[in-house]
Amino acid sequence: MEFKKIGVLTSGGDAPGMNAVIRAVTRVANAAGVETYGIFEGYQGLMDGNLVRLTGSDVSNIISKGGTMLYTARANEFKEPSGMEKALKTCKEHGIDGIIAIGGDGTFRGATDLSAHGIPTIGLTGTIDNDITATDYTVGFDTAMNTVLECVDRLRDTCESHARCSVVEVMGRDAGYIALQAGISVGAIGIVIKEFPFDEDAMMKRIIKSKKEGRRSFVVIVSEGVKDEEGKPFGEGLSKRIEEITNVETRFVRLAHIIRGGAPTLRDRLAASMMGSAAVKLLLEGKSNLVVCERNAEIVTYEINFALTLDKMYKNKLKQGDLDRFASSEIHEMEILAEVRRKEMLDMYNSAMSLM
Ligand code: ATP
Repeated sequence: MEFKKIGVLTSGGDAPGMNAVIRAVTRVANAAGVETYGIFEGYQGLMDGNLVRLTGSDVSNIISKGGTMLYTARANEFKEPSGMEKALKTCKEHGIDGIIAIGGDGTFRGATDLSAHGIPTIGLTGTIDNDITATDYTVGFDTAMNTVLECVDRLRDTCESHARCSVVEVMGRDAGYIALQAGISVGAIGIVIKEFPFDEDAMMKRIIKSKKEGRRSFVVIVSEGVKDEEGKPFGEGLSKRIEEITNVETRFVRLAHIIRGGAPTLRDRLAASMMGSAAVKLLLEGKSNLVVCERNAEIVTYEINFALTLDKMYKNKLKQGDLDRFASSEIHEMEILAEVRRKEMLDMYNSAMSLM
């Protein structure tokens, strides 16, 4: 099939580097003689026909900007048949022959639906959580991590002056990558993530012992996904308990959306540029229903349903029948990939514990 016009959209939570992907897609498509249309607010804009032609100069100087020039939205109607109907109407009216969708797993579910309805679609990661099991890296992670480091280093300064402890909650709904890597990198005395049980008593003892040895400041990193028995954020209660048990004045700090913004780092600009270029080439080669991933520093692709099912396998969320459509060789590959991730997390966690 010959492509004349392709669309690009950003969907779900925003991530630094999304603009760099939009730029790469536009430049590479235009160089191949294919017009690029920027679709505003993700699948909402696709349903509403809210799109604009992008030229090479429209994307000048956005590589260094955080957020997304195409904006993003959560568009629940797109999950319904009526939403798909509207999206297909937009593609038909504007002659959009293919789409590149940048986001997380929800965005990929939308992309696979579009592919199934005859619009070739390639998914590309743009999420700070680094929680797509099929890829070593998601665009936005490095920038978000560096922002966490900067914020916690600042907190550390004032904790040191006042002899305090900061319990810092970082984003990562279902995945503890941000908390774990940040915890190691800021020298946290405790890391609380969903993936591993937290030994609170041992952490309290570490704080008391270190305090006796003359240490003045403490940092504990908690992933936002961890809740207490009442469903409340775990870090808030933990902060009170640290003060009561160790007698160290303790403050709870939620970094929240601050880590989503800011200029993308070198790592994110490079990943975004390489992955964005690869996505266009795949589309123009006639490929569809794939997600662009990075494995062992190489760009590779997986079928979107494979990647989504692998995610479920890694998170132990597989339901009956989820594996039925896959060949045994594919299931075996998924098991290997899930195991690689589990080992990676375990090794990192063990090394974090040994450094406390
Ligand atoms: P992040 O997790 O980083 O926020 P995400 O892409 O997972 O990113 P979601 O809000 O889950 O974010 O999904 C983004 C959009 O993708 C939704 O608003 C919706 O338009 C579309 N989408 C999500 N799930 C589905 C689905 N099952 N079928 C079709 N479209 C979907």
